[in-house]
Amino acid sequence: MAMGNDDFSRYLMDRIRLLEERNSLLLEQANKIEIEKRFSESQKLKFERELRQLKSELERLKTPPLVVGTVVDVLNNGRIVIRSSTGPQFVVGSSQFINSPELMAGVRVSLNYQSLAVVDILPSSRDPFVNAMEVIDSPEITYSEIGGLDEQIREVRETVELPLTKPEIFQRIGIEPPKGVLLFGAPGTGKTLLAKAVANETKATFIRIVGSELVQKYIGEGARIVRDLFKMAKEKAPTIIFIDELDSIGAKRLDTATSGDREVQRTLMQLLSEMDGFNNRGNIRIIAATNRPDILDSALLRPGRFDRFIMIPMPNKDARALILKIHSRKMKLSDDVDFDKLSALTDGANGSDLKAIVMEAGMLAVREERYNICIDDFQKAIKKLLTPTTKQNLHSEGMFA
Ligand code: ATP
Repeated sequence: MAMGNDDFSRYLMDRIRLLEERNSLLLEQANKIEIEKRFSESQKLKFERELRQLKSELERLKTPPLVVGTVVDVLNNGRIVIRSSTGPQFVVGSSQFINSPELMAGVRVSLNYQSLAVVDILPSSRDPFVNAMEVIDSPEITYSEIGGLDEQIREVRETVELPLTKPEIFQRIGIEPPKGVLLFGAPGTGKTLLAKAVANETKATFIRIVGSELVQKYIGEGARIVRDLFKMAKEKAPTIIFIDELDSIGAKRLDTATSGDREVQRTLMQLLSEMDGFNNRGNIRIIAATNRPDILDSALLRPGRFDRFIMIPMPNKDARALILKIHSRKMKLSDDVDFDKLSALTDGANGSDLKAIVMEAGMLAVREERYNICIDDFQKAIKKLLTPTTKQNLHSEGMFA
C-alpha cells in the first residue's frame, strides 16, 4: 500500500523528533561523562598531592636529627666556633646556602649531626634582653631591713641617693656626683639589698643585670644587652642600674684574647662607652657589685666611671644579732629567744646564711605544729646550716670567701 504525501511527511516528522530526543539524551550523557571525567581528574590530582605529602613526610621522618648550637665566634677564614647544646665548643664549616652576614655570635643554628656543619639559622626563641635582667618598678626593700651596714648605708645615700633627690646641692657646690659606685665584699652580705633600698627610697626603677650571665648565657648578645639596658634606664628614669658580678665582664684585659675573651671585651667596651655617654647629673645611677675588686680592669675604676668604692663587710656579732632579728620580725617567737646569744654561735655566717637559719628555725616549729619558735629551733638550725661542710658549700670561692 502506497504511502500518501501526508503520511510520509508525518513519518519524517516523527523520525526527526525521535532523532532529536536521542540526540539530547546523548548530549546529556556526554555532559555527565564530561563531569565524571573532570571529577576523576581532580581526584587524581588530589591523590597525587597526598602521595607527595606522604613521601616528603617519610623523607622527613627518615632524615637524621639536627643538633642545635650557638655561634660563639666567626673566624676570619670563614670557619665558625660553635657551642653545641650539650656544652663543648667546636670549629665547624657551614653550608653554602647559609646567608653568611646573618651568621654572627649569639645566633642559634642547627648542625649536621655528623660533621656539625651549620645547616640552618634558627629563629631566636626568646629575646635575651628581656630574660637577662630583673626590672622592678620600685622595690619594696627599705634601709630598716638591712642589718649592720649603717655606715655603708650613709655612704650610699650620699653618693647615689642625694644626686637623685637633691641634684641642686651638687650644682651649688660645683662638684660632680659619682656616676658609678662599686660595692665590694663577700657574697650574701647585702649588696643587692642595699641597691634595692636606694631604688625604693628614691622611687627609682631598679634594673639588675648579672655580669656572668651576660657573657656565659647570652653569648654574643652582651654588648647589645648593655646598650639596650641604658636605653631602657633612660626611658624609665629615675633608674638605679645594678650590675652584679661586675668582675665577669670587667676583669683585667689580657693580650692573648680567645673568642670568649673577645666577647667579654665587647661587652665591657659597650659598658664603658655607655657610662661615658651619660650625664653625671642625670637621673640614672649605677651601682656595681663584685667580690673580686682586685681583678677589675683599671679602665673601669677611672674617674667618671666607678670612682667610689664602698666595702661591704661580713657582719660582726652585733650585726648578726640585728640581721637575725630583722628576718624574724614577722614571726612568733617564744620569750627564751635571745639574739645576742644566738649571734655568738654564728661566727662566719653572712646575711644570707642568717636569713636561711631563721627560715629553718621557723620550719622546725611548723613541722612540730607549734605556735611559736623557741631558741632550741634556732640552735638546731644553726647546727644544721653552719657545720663546716655546709659552710663550705654555702660560700662560693673568691677573694672574700
Ligand atoms: P651576692 O654577692 O651573692 O649577689 P649580695 O651581697 O648581693 O650577694 P644579697 O643578695 O643582698 O647579697 O643578700 C642575700 C640575702 O641575704 C638577701 O635576701 C637578704 O635578705 C639577706 N641579707 C644579706 N645581708 C643582709 C643584711 N646585712 N641585712 C639583712 N639581710 C641580709
